[in-house]
Amino acid sequence: MIDESEVIRSPLLSVLEDLHIKYQQLQEGKLANYIPELAKVNPDLFSICVMTTDGQVFAVGDCQHLFTIQSISKVFVYGMALEEHGREYVLTKVGVEPTGDAFNSIVLDEMSKRPYNPMVNAGAIAITSLIKGSGPTERLNRMLEMFKKYIGHDIFIDISVFMSERTTGHRNRAMAHLMLNFGMIDQKIEEVLDLYFQQCSLMVNCQDLAVMAATLANNGINPITREQAVKSDYVRDILSVMYTCGMYNFAGEWAYKVGLPAKSGVSGGLIVVVPNKMGIAVFSPLLDERGNSVRGVKVCEELSQQYCLHIFDYLRGSCKFNGN
Ligand code: GLU
Repeated sequence: MIDESEVIRSPLLSVLEDLHIKYQQLQEGKLANYIPELAKVNPDLFSICVMTTDGQVFAVGDCQHLFTIQSISKVFVYGMALEEHGREYVLTKVGVEPTGDAFNSIVLDEMSKRPYNPMVNAGAIAITSLIKGSGPTERLNRMLEMFKKYIGHDIFIDISVFMSERTTGHRNRAMAHLMLNFGMIDQKIEEVLDLYFQQCSLMVNCQDLAVMAATLANNGINPITREQAVKSDYVRDILSVMYTCGMYNFAGEWAYKVGLPAKSGVSGGLIVVVPNKMGIAVFSPLLDERGNSVRGVKVCEELSQQYCLHIFDYLRGSCKFNGN
């Protein structure tokens, strides 16, 4: 029998537990309500999971609870498009400029007619349209295989979320038509939108998100399986757009305060990449007015500050990150 008093507590785990207790009290924010499945989620759900690039896991809260990945998927599908077409071609279809607008704004760059970046819906839909395959099934299977490399196990679609997204996604459909008009995507609009709605409806838990983030922190190599999920060459492109565009129209303030590449989604997930160190994932479905998880933002602000994680912090590297 283990004597609890003799167990050496990980300092990082204690920090995460304290943050969890502190912010569990915070009841600010609202559930996403554009589809019924998201509106009926338990607002108290809250988990934090950190995975280091050497595969250590620090988890608090219900890190096994499944939810849909939503916009966080955009990061990984962007990586897939870069691998399939190369940086130059992808740039002709989707820019890398932050918008300052809401994620679902129907705007394209005036001059180039490209969507502004791959993290807003228009850009993500154009990116999804680049996924190769002989038909919808092959494209979906290839995408699932890509996600599996990051997560380390099979991943499944929440069919009711997918059906709701598809039934209510008029705005996304309008954007797709606008991009068809400008030749940014091709004729198969409904197939592209289905694949986009499917990628948003993939089920993950907080620990899955942490390993995905840790894979990006580890130059594209999954720290657990050691599999290369995305070519190292493209990790810097992915992290750059996460840094400038990953937090909806809060991206600038996030970069200023937290200073790390990140991506959030409307179901309340948030991933943060600390290059060469760790991936951080938080899940809490109460969202602020920009669509970011309220508790998720708070937790990451504190972690960044406490461990000097901001990439431009002059103290970076000198604050002790002591996971052990
Ligand atoms: N399925 C959502 C949409 O495309 C994703 C939104 C999000 O997570 O930002 O509208």
